[in-house]
Amino acid sequence: MNARRRPKLHVMLPAAILSAALLAACGGGAPDGESLPERGGAVASDEAPGIDEAVLRERIATLASDEFEGRAPASAGGAKTRGYLIEEMKKIGLKPGNGDSYEQIVPTVETTLNPETSFLKIGEKTYAYGPEVVYWTKRVEEAVSFEDSDVVFVGYGVVAPEYGWDDYAGVDVTGKTVIMLVNDPGFATQDPDVFNGNAMTYYGRWTYKYEEAARQGAAAAIIVHQTAPAAYGWGVVEGSWKGPQIDLVRRDRGASRVALEGWMQEADVRALFETAGKDFDALVAAAATPEFEAVPLDLKASAAIKNSIRLSLSANVVGMLEGSQAPEAYVLYVAHWDHLGATAAGEDKISNGAVDNATGTAGILSIAESIAALPERPRRSILFLAVTAEESGLLGSAYFAEDPFVPLANIVGGINIDGVLPVPATKNLVVTGYGASELEDILKKYADQRGLYISPDPEPEKGYFYRSDHISIAKKGVPMLYADLGPDFVDGGVEAGEAFGADYRVNRYHLPADEYDPSWDMESMVMLFEIARDIGLDLANSGDWPNWYAGTEFRGLRDAQRAEAE
Ligand SMILES: [Zn+2]
Repeated sequence: MNARRRPKLHVMLPAAILSAALLAACGGGAPDGESLPERGGAVASDEAPGIDEAVLRERIATLASDEFEGRAPASAGGAKTRGYLIEEMKKIGLKPGNGDSYEQIVPTVETTLNPETSFLKIGEKTYAYGPEVVYWTKRVEEAVSFEDSDVVFVGYGVVAPEYGWDDYAGVDVTGKTVIMLVNDPGFATQDPDVFNGNAMTYYGRWTYKYEEAARQGAAAAIIVHQTAPAAYGWGVVEGSWKGPQIDLVRRDRGASRVALEGWMQEADVRALFETAGKDFDALVAAAATPEFEAVPLDLKASAAIKNSIRLSLSANVVGMLEGSQAPEAYVLYVAHWDHLGATAAGEDKISNGAVDNATGTAGILSIAESIAALPERPRRSILFLAVTAEESGLLGSAYFAEDPFVPLANIVGGINIDGVLPVPATKNLVVTGYGASELEDILKKYADQRGLYISPDPEPEKGYFYRSDHISIAKKGVPMLYADLGPDFVDGGVEAGEAFGADYRVNRYHLPADEYDPSWDMESMVMLFEIARDIGLDLANSGDWPNWYAGTEFRGLRDAQRAEAE
């Protein structure tokens, strides 16, 4: 930590909703080196005009219209969306956010594995692609293979210094095939002192596990599917990974990834362990203890993957309001502009994605408009980033985070807006990934002003925090907030709110019926965007660097990033 940092008094949250450990953990921010205006001299958010409901409606209706064809990333509708966003940004008075461009080109690749010519063999058995195993390669190659790779069980496949955990300690897995469990030891033990207890940490996500295996130099990484810790059945695994897969074309074309990533059915892994003379249940139990050491299985794995690949281009769209005093520090708004496009069957073929995510895309434009109308520019810069290919696996945001056009260390914090329901008056906000960063303290301030209370994500074990664009950026260190309108309705309470949410999930989510309707009640949505605007303005006019709470998974990375920048 930089010596210039000094602790400061922290806004105290009600003890009822935060553990003492969390309170003790709230760290201080550091000035960003620019002279700050006197408090009160800064531009106050109450000078900003309110979000204009009629204009917001118009933007949502436009983005969700059939003319935009469901906004698939690399389609004519996608190109139309990008053009519209740039025009709106220009009208609002935003400058190009990426040098002299309003776009960051995002190259993607669609890969289709040929199951007839591909195989995975472990020990004596070649596994059936689909019913027993799914696998793929993140390398942009038509053919990838390896032979006679030693197989090692690495528990949860986690290296987490802040939890004193290293499943790869004392073992060299270079060129080897690692098999590991899904989720994390906190879920396995349900012990609140182990990782984050029942709530999933980033270490529990399959994305992390493959990334870690690559860092360890493994040839292949296979996750054991178990329904409870995965939070979904094998059908979801098979359905998601069979057929064409879309991914980014990274600078190294995926060369740094393991050759083969995959999932195996639990029953097959049990049988495999038995052939190696190992007791699967005993190893699973051992894996949830910090004493666990990786176990070589005395088996060899061989595989070949044959792909057809198709390259295409989409783009993130980004506008900027330049800061008046510290333009090198950035506040970030993120919303994904893409949706699913048109489907082949049915009467209404277009998935319009009105809620998901015309709302958030229109929202960041309307927030930009409100801030741009202030008589004085905020002291720090503000980026409005509409990302592509969220629906294909958070790809646009991942591309931004892996190849950022401003240094990540200079991004003070970010707010993601995704899928805002047009709910009636409500009493609460929900923070997905609650208890993560000091941005929540700032949210609390503005929620209080409007008489709203804050609820944690009701199902943290399902890892929703890891399923929208903020995570792409959060996992690179930048504090990110993902808050939405809560279900405790003024009329009808939580029961009414949950019914409203369930109706959307069942009848409209990812279906052609996710359409804009002029009868939408916009009052709560406008309020949410005004709160998001207030948080961004607060950050943009301050010299603070809010951090992740101590003991959370991205804190160490952020500390190192900021120390290097200062
Ligand atoms: Zn979606």
